[in-house]
Amino acid sequence: MKTKEITRYIYGPVPSWRLGRSLGVDIVPFKTCSFNCIYCETGRTTNLTLERKEYVPKASVIEELRTFLSKRKNIDYITFSGSGEPTLNSRIGEMIREVKKLTNIPVAIVTNSSLLNKEKVRGELREADVVLPSLDVVSQSLFESLNRPHPSLKIEEIIEGLIEFRKEFKNKIWLEVLLVKGINDNPEEIHKLAEVIKKIKPDKVQLNTVLRPPVEEEVFALNQKELSSIQKQLPGKVEVVRKFKKVLKGGHIGKLEMDIKNLLQRRPCTLSDISHALRVNPREVMKNLTILKGRAEIRAELHNKKRYYISTKRSYG
Ligand code: SF4
Repeated sequence: MKTKEITRYIYGPVPSWRLGRSLGVDIVPFKTCSFNCIYCETGRTTNLTLERKEYVPKASVIEELRTFLSKRKNIDYITFSGSGEPTLNSRIGEMIREVKKLTNIPVAIVTNSSLLNKEKVRGELREADVVLPSLDVVSQSLFESLNRPHPSLKIEEIIEGLIEFRKEFKNKIWLEVLLVKGINDNPEEIHKLAEVIKKIKPDKVQLNTVLRPPVEEEVFALNQKELSSIQKQLPGKVEVVRKFKKVLKGGHIGKLEMDIKNLLQRRPCTLSDISHALRVNPREVMKNLTILKGRAEIRAELHNKKRYYISTKRSYG
């Protein structure tokens, strides 16, 4: 029987509407982030921080990638992303350089933009092929209610960082805007956002909405018509997220979802139990758990301060 390799820092490749077959590299511990977005699909941030350090060892990440890439080639992007903010890892620049030595596969960075006002961080991303920063809002009050950032973060400074980054970065910038119904989709905010996008000058804007069950229950998606209307109000090249079902066609998520369901039908498990049992990165597990929770196929319960996921389809004997 073919055994699956244990990977701690890489996951996938997963089908991504923006990057095709994307091999994820997760370089901060689960939910270590400078934001705690209400729409986050990997759960609430447990370490809300701006501290930069080598959260996971560079050498281990590179070794894992080297082994993986020696066997698998059909990958469109190697993507630094994951269950938190990758630029919090202080060795991200060195990791990008090492990956470029290992392979010709382009490197993508998905970031919430929070540290782009730091010259050092902008410099560390220099060798990436594409950076996908996000900017959902322009107003500080909406920033605080939607992205729930670290208290010292100011949206104005983040926007300045994005403008500087555009001046310095020679490769592609695809700016993501995630829209939540009733929060950042009002005409006034969209108008302000359009003005800021003109200053940032990304290669393109990618409009997204809440596709998977979010961390907070009262968070709703825009429909395709509403997204198309906002698309017309923003400057430059603007793409709208393709329907979620198309993203799922890659098959990987479907199989993982089935494995999780089978496991939870046998016994209640924590996120970490599932991640270890199935040898899958916690971010991927969490995505599937939120989908299953949204469909009421599982529920979560706290026991001894640990969150257990439980199948609603059977009672455990
Ligand atoms: S969506 Fe991204 S930036 Fe927001 S809390 Fe989740 S990991 Fe952090």
